[in-house]
Amino acid sequence: MTPTAFLLAVILIQQGFFGLVWALGAGLNLARRASIHWGVAALAVAAGLVLVLLRERVNPWLGFFLANVLMTLAFVILRRGLEVFVRQPARDLEQSMVMLGVCGVVASAVRLDAPAYVTATTVSLAIAWTVGRAAWEVGHRLADEFGVATARACAAPLALVAGLFGLRGLLAPVFREQVGQSLAVDTGFTATLVFVFLGLGLVVNATLAAIVVVRLVRRLEHSSYHDALTGLLNRRGMDRILDRESARHERFGQGYALLMLDLDHFKAVNDRHGHAAGDAVLVGVANALVQASREVDRIGRVGGEEFCVLLPSTDLDGAEQVARRMLDSVRAMRVAVDGAELRVTVSIGVGVAGGPPDSLAAVRQRVDRALYTAKLLGRDRIEVAARLELAAVARLAGC
Ligand code: GH3
Ligand code: MG
Ligand code: MG
Repeated sequence: MTPTAFLLAVILIQQGFFGLVWALGAGLNLARRASIHWGVAALAVAAGLVLVLLRERVNPWLGFFLANVLMTLAFVILRRGLEVFVRQPARDLEQSMVMLGVCGVVASAVRLDAPAYVTATTVSLAIAWTVGRAAWEVGHRLADEFGVATARACAAPLALVAGLFGLRGLLAPVFREQVGQSLAVDTGFTATLVFVFLGLGLVVNATLAAIVVVRLVRRLEHSSYHDALTGLLNRRGMDRILDRESARHERFGQGYALLMLDLDHFKAVNDRHGHAAGDAVLVGVANALVQASREVDRIGRVGGEEFCVLLPSTDLDGAEQVARRMLDSVRAMRVAVDGAELRVTVSIGVGVAGGPPDSLAAVRQRVDRALYTAKLLGRDRIEVAARLELAAVARLAGC
């Protein structure tokens, strides 16, 4: 076995292995449709390589035409898998034209017994185009989800692969005996080229695996800080943000306001209309709160029917205004359930961290007390912590 044939056999095993890994990924529902595409792509490369290795022994339509078509098709399927992954409509028409062009040129090359560089140039340029476009799509479409830097980092290895194939495509007609040589012919150059392909196979599959893992980690992170029912922050997510805000307040004296909201007589909604209706009301309230808030405000569902709102750089008057908007927004909300229109009200405690640095625990305690007072005073109302304290001081002074 020549060194080139040996390296081709190693790539064959490598691609067969990746085919199995992607099948496993699909079985585990990890980016299922994309994994199926990538598994098929790896197997197409493996099948193409078997034909290249058997080139001397099989008919040129198999060893040459089909082998090259399978190699190109593998990258087309790989790009399609990426398009599925980044949720972009597949460019099937564009890629069909590329495949048609490759089939036409390689078929003519077989029929006319054209020199190898013709096929090498065509196939390399088609692959460069396909992978280059895929890299561009990954870089752009994943920027929102992964952030610009991570999306570019994921696109870069694909761009490198596209660049190397492009280079081979352009140099093959110039250096016909070296770069334009068929991979089945063993020369020092083809051995090096196949060795580079071995590395590229690893780079491409590692990149695909990386983007699947990045998405998985982002999703896990999102679900550990967000409430599945309403999409708002959950208690853990809210605590994280409050801790940061409180640290900023203690270090730089930047004030913030905190609202605690609790639905009134919510148990009765569940008891009368069922838990599903209760859930629909919770979603309605969450939307009403989001509508009444500003972009910088952060809202969390921190208990069953309890919500918390952080208003950065907001004083008591501003906080009271937001609380009033939220109170009105919840009052105006209607949830249609079995022909009936459910409505609920909310009680709100308001407090601010201001003056000398205030600990988060102290602010929370004041806001909780204000909420408790709002409940005691009849519900569907706002109570402001600082005013309660002033009233208490006035009462003490009067004693
Ligand atoms: P109050 O005005 O004093 O706050 O009365 P309440 O009925 O709202 O308060 P209580 O704490 O007695 O009841 C809260 C209810 O919220 C109890 C529970 O059935 C309901 N609840 C908690 N989590 C969920 C949830 O995820 N979905 C639904 N549908 N109900 C929930
Ligand atoms: Mg409650
Ligand atoms: Mg309640």
